Amino acid sequence: MCGIIGFIGNKNASEIIYNGLKHLEYRGYDSVGVAYIKSKDVVIKKDVGKLNEVNSKLNFLDVKSNIGLGHCRWATTGAVTKENAHPHTDCNNIIVVVHNGIIENYLELKNDLIKKGHNFRSDTDTEVFSHLIEQKMKEGKSFEEACSIASRIIQGTAALVIANTEEEKLIGIKIGSPLVLGVSDFGYFLASDIPAFLNYTKKVIFLKDFEMVVLDKSGYRIYTIDESAKMHETEKKVYTIDWDAEQAEKGSFDHFMIKEILEQVDAISNASIQDVKKLEKFSEKILKSDKIFFVASGTSYHASLVGSYLMNKICGISTIPIIASEFSHYINSINDKTLIIAISQSGETYDVLEAVRLAKNKGAKIFSIVNVNGSTLTWESDDYLLMNCGPEIGVAATKTYSAEIVLLELIACFVAKKFEEGKMKINYLRNIIYNLTSESSRNAIKDIAKFLRDKSNLFLIGRGLLYPTAMEGALKIKEISYIHAEAFAGGELKHGTLSLIEDGVPVIALIDEATKDSTLSNAREVKARKGIVIGVSPFHDEAFDFWIKVPECNNLNPIAFIIPLQLLAYYLAVLRGFDPDKPRNLSKSITVK
Ligand code: GLU
Repeated sequence: MCGIIGFIGNKNASEIIYNGLKHLEYRGYDSVGVAYIKSKDVVIKKDVGKLNEVNSKLNFLDVKSNIGLGHCRWATTGAVTKENAHPHTDCNNIIVVVHNGIIENYLELKNDLIKKGHNFRSDTDTEVFSHLIEQKMKEGKSFEEACSIASRIIQGTAALVIANTEEEKLIGIKIGSPLVLGVSDFGYFLASDIPAFLNYTKKVIFLKDFEMVVLDKSGYRIYTIDESAKMHETEKKVYTIDWDAEQAEKGSFDHFMIKEILEQVDAISNASIQDVKKLEKFSEKILKSDKIFFVASGTSYHASLVGSYLMNKICGISTIPIIASEFSHYINSINDKTLIIAISQSGETYDVLEAVRLAKNKGAKIFSIVNVNGSTLTWESDDYLLMNCGPEIGVAATKTYSAEIVLLELIACFVAKKFEEGKMKINYLRNIIYNLTSESSRNAIKDIAKFLRDKSNLFLIGRGLLYPTAMEGALKIKEISYIHAEAFAGGELKHGTLSLIEDGVPVIALIDEATKDSTLSNAREVKARKGIVIGVSPFHDEAFDFWIKVPECNNLNPIAFIIPLQLLAYYLAVLRGFDPDKPRNLSKSITVK
């Protein structure tokens, strides 16, 4: 899940690569490295650590060159060491590679290449790619041919940027991991994600699997690599992205996460601006399908649980929400009357794409909800709706979660012929989110975070729409503050979990009007066992030790109630000394199995 970037053109590559890495750091931060090609030679700087740490040691900016590569690593194969940091080269430092993905057959390839005399300097899977190219060129192939042949030899996933120092060319290849091409009048960019070059250009070409871009200073050529590794030149559409470069900057905020929590005021109204014809198509498909599955992972899976409650509540339609990586176990019930609603922020989530492909093979229709237009999920779907959130950089999803729920609410309202009413309610929610994220609300949550910062366990309970909300709150707390947080449906407490409640154990109880009596009695059960109750609700109750007031928003409660929980997770992380934008072991879009 690393971030990769490459540049070739007539500007100084070092600044562009450094800037690109700053915007890709959310994808990997074990180690970082750059390579600059100059006078047919290469300068490589790499080490273990975060970008600013390694840069202050090695200075990534002091080389002037027009061709560069960069990589921030999230190790999958080989320990986190300087030797294993990318870029990797062939035996003669002519082929230089950065890679995102996993080459599954690397050991077998490595052994074979060692027998042929190649000298390996790392334990990574990536290094085999540079030696494979070297080997094929030794056997008489051109650089381009060698890259296309190597791409068909490796098994697994890869987004690769490869430099040839002698020919002063860059090649990009996409196989299952994300890679986009940025086009400008001063040069070309290859990167894992658009924000990496958004400061320089908004013109983007989205690549498909087994497409290869060849870049030199005069321009770009794109080829499709067929199964026998033959290259076929292909024309591609250039998209102009409507994201602003500032959206991908932290500005005056300490972290992207807090910036993105506050951006939810606008995110929900931007998400509600949808083409009615598309909603009509979604709605028709829902009404015609025999079975409807939601397929998503992580935060998007929690949004799909909310979606399932909403479909039931607003239109009386049953849907089955499934964790994407579990979907294959349901495959026997999928057929051409099945609808899959796939949800993914990046549109590149490996588990979601794999589930979608399985379902398509069985004839199912795929409709999806995506933030990144042009991403793989958008091409692989029969139709899709966009979240319109702009880039989300914080690893912990916040604004895209709210946008996903807005879209699910709109779809449900459309099916139930209550579209205008639904839209009005979303507009009304803007003010509520504005208040929930105001400075005084933030300070109140910070005080609760101070109380909770040294706890090692906490529980969240909720019922109905607030059950998946509790699950999402627990995920936010776990992923960035590393406190063990677990969510339960209120009714489940007495079926086992109550045994964990003892003196001083904190329980966050999410309570709205619809679940008032039942969840309040759970809160009292907690209180009776000397647990600490943090009530999140429109009303106060004497069982609460702390109260976070959230106005009643009925079907939109999952959005209103998640805001204080996102803020709580954020302040817990900060108070415990962790960087909420770079949680350990995690990365933003999970493009590996
Ligand atoms: N497999 C490569 C490594 O371990 C790339 C990692 C990744 O993209 O996740 O270095």
